[in-house]
Amino acid sequence: MKELHFRVQTSSDTPHYTVSIHKDDKNISAHCTCEHGGRETLCKHRLAILSGKAKWIISDNAADVKRVLSWVAWSDVGQAITKAVYAQKRLKDAQKELERATALLQDAEAEMSAAQQALIQAMND
Ligand SMILES: [Zn+2]
Repeated sequence: MKELHFRVQTSSDTPHYTVSIHKDDKNISAHCTCEHGGRETLCKHRLAILSGKAKWIISDNAADVKRVLSWVAWSDVGQAITKAVYAQKRLKDAQKELERATALLQDAEAEMSAAQQALIQAMND
């Protein structure tokens, strides 16, 4: 069994979380000490490390994410990660689109309201 540990930065009072990646033959398992790091959940720290991103790593072994990536490539985690990363990107794109659409809607509502006021005014002149 091979094993790697990474310390990752946190936005809470906890000084750091620890992400552990275990490789046993072709099976990969990942655990994180953050509140979403358990078996039934998925945290951004594990997702980042399993997809080869060193983004939040504060331990001096950040380069080891490359090794994780090579482990993942030969496991069923690999395909699932690809799908999860793609879905995450689509979600972010959709959120941006929603923000733009919301701004357009507010503009149109303001324009409609001003136009109605002008029409009322014109009819009462
Ligand atoms: Zn985590």
